[in-house]
Amino acid sequence: MFDRRRFVLSLPVLGAASTAHAAAPALTSPECAVFTRERQHETTPDAALRLLAEGNERFVTGRTINCDLRAQVRATASGQAPFAAIVGCIDSRVPPELVFDQRLGDVFSARIAGNFVNDDILGSLEFATKLSGAKLVVVLGHSECGAIKGAVDGAKLGHLTAMLRNFAPAIKSVHATGEANSKNKAYVQAVADANSKLTAAQVTSRSEVLRDLVAKKQLRVVAAMHDVATGRVTFFA
Ligand SMILES: [Zn+2]
Repeated sequence: MFDRRRFVLSLPVLGAASTAHAAAPALTSPECAVFTRERQHETTPDAALRLLAEGNERFVTGRTINCDLRAQVRATASGQAPFAAIVGCIDSRVPPELVFDQRLGDVFSARIAGNFVNDDILGSLEFATKLSGAKLVVVLGHSECGAIKGAVDGAKLGHLTAMLRNFAPAIKSVHATGEANSKNKAYVQAVADANSKLTAAQVTSRSEVLRDLVAKKQLRVVAAMHDVATGRVTFFA
């Protein structure tokens, strides 16, 4: 059951934005209902995109929904039916569930530095969509990305050296105005934008399974950019 003492004790660390939700979480609120197979089936790719956009709006404006996560643990114990899959960076400022104000069972989340795709990520997306029914894939880049900065500077370190080669196409596609290194903020942002868009394009160009779902209008793939200064996500769609 819901532990009120623990909730009250945790309030001071939640911050002012959450005090509007000082009452007990709305356990029966529609927003706190976990995604069922039926609801997932009824959700179109466009509607899935709207759900994420609305969630980000709540995140940006400090109106995030406060649900009883332990109730959601119980509600998702027997299965999951997430409506979207997100490929994001490992950056600590961009956890997809938080920036889109989603909870247990809502979204698949694949995170890798610089949000690119490889065979393993593509396989994960095929599982998330074809087998598990998600209707939307979002490639979520972000501003001030350390992986992009390292790539434009030609950083060399252990396994990073090989990993950063994944950003060569994005770097190649951007014509730098000024210095082509991480000191040039506009250049770094342009490469991050290009990387998200090129990665989203690769999702369908490299995966026949995902391409087929898109052709049947059962799936949308969109690139997006998260601004770490504002929390705002812009969809390139
Ligand atoms: Zn990053």
